[in-house]
Amino acid sequence: MKVTFIKPNIGRREHSLYVDEGRMEPLMLGVLAGLTPPDVDVVMYDDRMESIPFDEAADLVAITIETYTARRAYEIAAEYRQRGVPVIMGGMHATLLPEEVAQHADSIFIGDAETLWAQVVEDARRHKLQTIYQAPPGIAQLNNTLPRREIYQGKGYLPMSLMQFTRGCRFACSFCAVSKYFNKTHYIRRVDEVVREIAEQERKFVFFIDDNIATDRKALKELCSALIPLRINWISQASLDVTRDLELMKLMADSGCIGHVMGFESITRASLRDARKAPNLPGFTNYDYEVKVLRDHGMQTWAAFTLGYDNDTYDSILATMEFALQNRFTFAAFNILMPYPNTPLYSKLQKENRLLYDGKWWLHPEYRFNDAAFIPANMTPDELTEACHKARQKFNSIFSLLYRFSDVKTNLRSLWRAASYWRYTTLFRKEVYKKHKMRFGFK
Ligand code: SF4
Repeated sequence: MKVTFIKPNIGRREHSLYVDEGRMEPLMLGVLAGLTPPDVDVVMYDDRMESIPFDEAADLVAITIETYTARRAYEIAAEYRQRGVPVIMGGMHATLLPEEVAQHADSIFIGDAETLWAQVVEDARRHKLQTIYQAPPGIAQLNNTLPRREIYQGKGYLPMSLMQFTRGCRFACSFCAVSKYFNKTHYIRRVDEVVREIAEQERKFVFFIDDNIATDRKALKELCSALIPLRINWISQASLDVTRDLELMKLMADSGCIGHVMGFESITRASLRDARKAPNLPGFTNYDYEVKVLRDHGMQTWAAFTLGYDNDTYDSILATMEFALQNRFTFAAFNILMPYPNTPLYSKLQKENRLLYDGKWWLHPEYRFNDAAFIPANMTPDELTEACHKARQKFNSIFSLLYRFSDVKTNLRSLWRAASYWRYTTLFRKEVYKKHKMRFGFK
């Protein structure tokens, strides 16, 4: 018995393939491999940088699917199914849109795999795969399952180990698929299990890919205290309200945290309200307090913005870029607000008849990466696309890179920080340009 795991690419560039040079280990596939009974062979192919050997024998193909990779995932599934190999798809998109995904797979997995994956493998072994498996979300790495990280070897991933401490988030931002998937709840692993997982692998740089690692501050404090003796460096994703807990901020810094991806989303109160961005709203004063606390604790912040709310204009988007530059954030992402299926934002835009690409941008042959997929209130879709790209271009200019580097509290805090700054800012700069206007799928 052999199971083949696949991580699909988003698509390709207009005249060449796209190789993601900033690729990270697909943690969920390592966990799935860990959950697979030991007498079963496993192999993983990452479509972001290698060709998939469709003719290689497999008894089951498991594809992880996100909204951005759906079109390519369906192409891959079709190749295997033509060859008579059964395909199961799971992941965020399969849970958000099971009816669509079911049209392209022999079986779909809704929810998190941990409680039912062994049964899926057993059913496949007996040629009795069910059409739907439904498991609760959030039971992370049940029975202390460790990811089988050997499946990542030789694939050129960034030198950081991906892990998870929590899943889900207590907030309910209107655009967020995570909030829909976990229904505003969060799940926490035992600290001793996480510590053991870190200790059992060699790397000293860890990326906790939690949706919001600060969703439960008490739990995060426990984790930070346990991380201090390990002397690692770590990054994660956290909501901005974490800055209001100075004890936690100090603990994070002491435990080796060097920064987070943080959802600033907007620099205006009106758009934050539109986004229902609860962690940012109380006492909102242009983020002066939050940015100061982050810098005082040496955090190299990746500021994530979503742009295109009903109050946003072309000029307000460019002002957002100026805000990010003035604050010398290590990275910033100027993302167009995307209507992910089954989110409150999607329903609102659908009701107002403002969705483009037949309401299914992720499948539409004319949709291109970074294009607006809805009609904004104060701009044309093209203007929104252009303003966001302009913001990316300016933020990633050489002048901007040098200016942001000059922050002694964050990017120049140590030699290692400085070296990491140049390594990753230049890499992500390249990716920004490579991905722009990419086609979805290969065909
Ligand atoms: S804080 Fe982040 S993870 Fe939580 S609901 Fe909002 S966008 Fe989603």
